[in-house]
Amino acid sequence: MAPKNILVTGGAGYIGSHTVLQLLQEGFRVVALDNLDNSSFIAIKRAAELAGDAEKNLSFQKVDLRDKEALSKVFDTIKFDAVIHFAGLKAVGESVQKPLLYYNNNLVGTITLLEVMNAHGCKNLVFSSSATVYGWPKQVPCTEEFPLSAANPYGRTKLIIEEMCRDIQKSDSEWKIILLRYFNPIGAHPSGYIGEDPRGIPNNLMPFIQQVAVGRKAELMVFGNDYNTKDGTGVRDYIHVVDLADGHISALEKLFSDQNIGCEVYNLGTGKGTSVLEMVSAFEKASGKSIPLVMCTRRPGDAEIVYASTDKADRELKWRAKHGIEEMCRDQWNWASKNPWGYGFPESES
Ligand code: NAD
Ligand code: UDP
Repeated sequence: MAPKNILVTGGAGYIGSHTVLQLLQEGFRVVALDNLDNSSFIAIKRAAELAGDAEKNLSFQKVDLRDKEALSKVFDTIKFDAVIHFAGLKAVGESVQKPLLYYNNNLVGTITLLEVMNAHGCKNLVFSSSATVYGWPKQVPCTEEFPLSAANPYGRTKLIIEEMCRDIQKSDSEWKIILLRYFNPIGAHPSGYIGEDPRGIPNNLMPFIQQVAVGRKAELMVFGNDYNTKDGTGVRDYIHVVDLADGHISALEKLFSDQNIGCEVYNLGTGKGTSVLEMVSAFEKASGKSIPLVMCTRRPGDAEIVYASTDKADRELKWRAKHGIEEMCRDQWNWASKNPWGYGFPESES
């Protein structure tokens, strides 16, 4: 059977680059598309190198999803079997400051993509949603049936896109859509050759810890130690990015094998909760570095405890995360120590 063609939007990004590599290793033909607003072409080059011979099955398009003409040209030249849609802006704080930027980029980008897919008869989609749609869950683990809410414009774009997908599928049963709700992706490819390289000051816990470990930041601010948790700090479900990438292969297999999938949603997490202090301690152990801490007040909008129910993905996608916190920290440190400035150089530090 001829290899399937997959378009990966946001393919140069953190999760995108790991997924591109895994797709190539699984024998897919991949077009990675990105406007490189929050990523570097070096990530694509390195993913291609890691793929060895399969590198020949990868091409890159520097396109903004909102540029309908350019996007249509990409679809004119290749008949895609499915699209994995990562492209979007993801900084919660920035989305509060610049809501229109987020609505424009994430919503207009997705609408344009869906229109072009529709016009070209490509109706198989995997979309990156987020555990943020569970808000502050009343109980844990979060199952896919929990009520949904948004605490900020970023989260609202995820909710709206999920709803759009459900509506589109209802209106046209040829669409097959899988919405993946990621919990907290961390870690890097075990080679240490690709990893997360956030622009500016990191928002998320692990990239911040990493920057303290390599000396780019002096200390980690712990946002709240008065939560009703084992040690008072917030609890999250951290998942190795390679496991997450693997979840996308399972989602594609489901799309291609299940004619009646419709529009279905799956959590991708480990089902285990880890506190901020537990994460710091695991990272210190993996890196041999000490992470100085400053206890601060809670970050507005933060939930206390969030972790996934993994039953549905396990049952229906036959997918389950394989890596634990130790491996996540080991691979994070391997990437960080080999690339203390990410894909860039000290001059680019803001
Ligand atoms: P990332 O910023 O590393 O990757 C997103 C990529 O999309 C970037 O390379 C960026 O340049 C590109 N992009 C943004 N807008 C674009 C546009 N209009 N046209 C073309 N390219 C565009 O982020 P990531 O961590 O890899 O996240 C990927 C997806 O997963 C995002 O949709 C994000 O919201 C979602 N997600 C991420 C997390 C997380 O913690 N990393 C958690 C839940 C969900
Ligand atoms: N956190 C922290 N200091 C930081 C960044 C995050 O204490 O510099 C905490 C945050 O309050 C939360 C956990 O770490 O309890 C995970 O935060 P992150 O932003 O990575 O993920 P999210 O809250 O979006 O799930």
